[in-house]
Amino acid sequence: MFDLLLRRARLVDDTVTDIAISAGKIAALGDISGPAVKSVDLHGEHYVSAGWIDSHVHCYPNSPIYHDQPDSVGIATGVTTVIDAGSTGADDIDDFYTLTRQATTEVYALLNISRVGLIAQNELANLNNIDASAVRDAVQRHPDFIVGLKARMSSSVVGDNGITPLERAKAIQKENGDLPLMVHIGNNPPNLDEIADLLTSGDIITHCYNGKPNRILTPGGELRASVARALRRGVRLDVGHGSASFIFTVAKRAIALGILPQTISSDIYCRNRIDGPVRSLANVMSKFLAIGLSLPQVIACVTDHAAEGLRLKQKGRLAVGYDADLTIFDLKRQPVLFTDAEHESLQAEQLITPLAAIRAGHGYMTEQGSAEHAFDL
Ligand SMILES: [Zn+2]
Repeated sequence: MFDLLLRRARLVDDTVTDIAISAGKIAALGDISGPAVKSVDLHGEHYVSAGWIDSHVHCYPNSPIYHDQPDSVGIATGVTTVIDAGSTGADDIDDFYTLTRQATTEVYALLNISRVGLIAQNELANLNNIDASAVRDAVQRHPDFIVGLKARMSSSVVGDNGITPLERAKAIQKENGDLPLMVHIGNNPPNLDEIADLLTSGDIITHCYNGKPNRILTPGGELRASVARALRRGVRLDVGHGSASFIFTVAKRAIALGILPQTISSDIYCRNRIDGPVRSLANVMSKFLAIGLSLPQVIACVTDHAAEGLRLKQKGRLAVGYDADLTIFDLKRQPVLFTDAEHESLQAEQLITPLAAIRAGHGYMTEQGSAEHAFDL
């Protein structure tokens, strides 16, 4: 007896399958006839993917500047797992951990290498905030919560310290089992070339399509040589849309050059969720459909690529034995006007619309899904 049976789910390759769930795990896929406590027919109409993973959010409710509730950026919008990107450092990580145990959304953290985290914009302007032993203790206290490190490398954050915080971050990374390191880029100094040259396989550049001086393209619209070298070494690109870090012109040009993101993420928090231009992960994903990625490419960026980049086991794939985290969504044909971080707009015709999410085997309808009454979980 299965706990839940999703019948006739449409996958992004347009095949249709049944998905059975038991004890919070995916129990079977294919043509399934066994009995289930609950059975939901999706009629081959509604898409199902592995649960969406947002690789860059801010959801520490006690953050003075970039706060939100995990479930507001997560399960309410069809996102089953969120990775908070450096809202907290060693000083606040315990509080963050405790608060997020009540969330339905699975929450992980990239620990800010600054022990004070994002209590202000300039957390790396004082090198005394980079305390390697405090990082090590925090990682040891929360081995299943801290999945990587975060260093924000832009002028307003590092002050007069140039590239030094990143050199410290790389040393700290080595001391902590080579955890993935996410590096924020934006205004210089330090220059992006200096940053890119320090990064190694598995490191993640976030805000990869920003329009600031540290954009990945040269003034002539070619990929910077330093970034090309970094990508060849296995450095990964993450979108991290945010309030000020994504523009259509850079994204379109990069994608035309074949420079695709490994992960599509939102950099969402309450302000850019409510007022835009982020709104939701689905909204950011839809922008990538509008600039030319296919639906399977977009979904891969929020499922298996995200799980791989942050080494999340048992997530990101529809496979037997994996966590029963799933997202049910429609691809709606409707006119929609998207806005980037510099108020440029883009007319599009499709919107990815989450209807429900299943997290550890339990179903949660989104507002949209409840309103449509297409099915009930
Ligand atoms: Zn961020």
